[in-house]
Amino acid sequence: MVCVVLLVVSFGFLFFRAAQTHEMAAIRDKAQLVAELLNQNTDTNYEVINSGDTRITIISADGRALSDSHIGADLSVNRSDRTEFIQAVNYGSGEAIRASATLGADTFYYAIRLDNGNVLRLSRTLYSLGEVFTSTIPIFAIITIVILAVAYFIAYRLTRIIIKPLTEIDFDNSTSSESLYEELWPYMKKIDHQKAEIASQFATLRNRAETIDAIIANMREGLVMLDEKGLVLAVNKSVLDIFGISAKHDVVGQNIGYIYHDSDFMQGVKQCLGGAFFEMNFSRNNKFYNAFLSPGTLGRAVSEANDQPASGGAIVFILDTTEQHKADLQRKEFTANVSHELKTPLTTISALSEMMANGMAKADDVAGFSQKISDHTKRLMNIIDDIIRLSEFDESKVEKNFVKFDIYELAKTVIATLQDKAEEKSVSVELTGQPLQIEANNRLLDELIFNLLDNGIKYNKDGGNVTIDISYENDKCKISVTDTGIGIASQHQSRVFERFYRADASRSKKTGGTGLGLSIVKHIAEHHNGNVILESTEGVGTKVVCYIAI
Ligand code: ADP
Repeated sequence: MVCVVLLVVSFGFLFFRAAQTHEMAAIRDKAQLVAELLNQNTDTNYEVINSGDTRITIISADGRALSDSHIGADLSVNRSDRTEFIQAVNYGSGEAIRASATLGADTFYYAIRLDNGNVLRLSRTLYSLGEVFTSTIPIFAIITIVILAVAYFIAYRLTRIIIKPLTEIDFDNSTSSESLYEELWPYMKKIDHQKAEIASQFATLRNRAETIDAIIANMREGLVMLDEKGLVLAVNKSVLDIFGISAKHDVVGQNIGYIYHDSDFMQGVKQCLGGAFFEMNFSRNNKFYNAFLSPGTLGRAVSEANDQPASGGAIVFILDTTEQHKADLQRKEFTANVSHELKTPLTTISALSEMMANGMAKADDVAGFSQKISDHTKRLMNIIDDIIRLSEFDESKVEKNFVKFDIYELAKTVIATLQDKAEEKSVSVELTGQPLQIEANNRLLDELIFNLLDNGIKYNKDGGNVTIDISYENDKCKISVTDTGIGIASQHQSRVFERFYRADASRSKKTGGTGLGLSIVKHIAEHHNGNVILESTEGVGTKVVCYIAI
């Protein structure tokens, strides 16, 4: 458009100049012609008549108009001061251009001195610049439209041709870029390189995300992520298990109260959404949990990225503390039991020794008292030995000390040590099975068999019997001790492995039991990668089976 306008203006101007020059030359020629005609004519009684666009005036030597072709021209005006007149009088011809007051255009005057001294003047209004432009505008408008149309068409075609290879670039196949402009090859290479880099970074990120997902999904601890309104954003399977919720989509998008509606917990959530940490214990379905609520850094990270004010949110972490809770309870019970177990014999020892020291004991009683003191001391020693053994197991201080030996032979020797006790109760002890070489801690297995046989004898009926069977089953050594004794009521069966737990406290004490024997048995079995199974029917008998890895 700018080019077209510039062209129109410059051509218009040139055209205007050319037209003016041409017009002036024509007037000069015409004036020469008329002057020649007039010079040939001696009649000076002129009367010029209207001769088209050109005005003809004949002026006398003193400047008066003798005749004028312009109708209504004022002949009385003296023209002796006009430039063209002065030049014509002095030099034979003269010319001038003056702005015409009426038309607002320039008028060209050309004067020639005639032979008789008069001056012939021709004048004509020249084309004005405005006129030139107005007359050429329609043509230029048409030209402009044509140029624009052609330019549009050519530009459209050219652009399509230039762009075609670009639109056909196959970014997945970099070799296709070879048909492309050479100038773009480096960019294609760069894109290829970046694509590979993005793909590898994406794979790394996906891997990382999958790893985190897998960790969250598989962790035993419960994890809930909340938005700033307390609505569930994400939840893992453990939470669903803890709260007995069947499907994840039931909870996502719900208020946290849908998962666990507890006033303390809800208060904690509120506190946490306000930016404070919160911790609480709760129990559900006989299990104990610790819930940790932390203000959500997730929301904060997102909002920082968006340059928005921190939005909050919370992370709830739920830890199963049932085992810890049980252990705490057991420890408390154990401490209470230990004190009780130690105090009873000590009280007796103290009372008897005081009586003897004060001379309150009769001479005949001294032997009996001393025996009692000795018995209680032995009992104390037994309890303390057992406690030490158990604490060693607790602290994993027991050394393996595995050696190869025949467990069948070991059982035989243990039976021999208990023979007297068995006979006292008229209980027969029998060994079945076959010799079996195992690699284990023989001192501990001696203790295990001793404890089981001892219980079988202690808690037996007069004339009953105990059988110990040694066999090989599923790559393990199986030691089963079966008795025909009093049995254990079902409600006690799961607890007899607890420390100091006794199904029948008075009987156990009478028989010298510490309540720690089966606990030690269980630890010894576990020390050998094994386990213990107890089956018992009250009044019928008990069977304890130990599996030991060999
Ligand atoms: P204790 O030293 O009292 O025998 P244990 O730990 O060996 O302690 O046994 C725990 C309790 O289990 C015993 O007090 C007893 O009530 C019961 N018990 C263990 N073995 C037998 C058995 N063979 N028959 C009946 N009751 C048994």
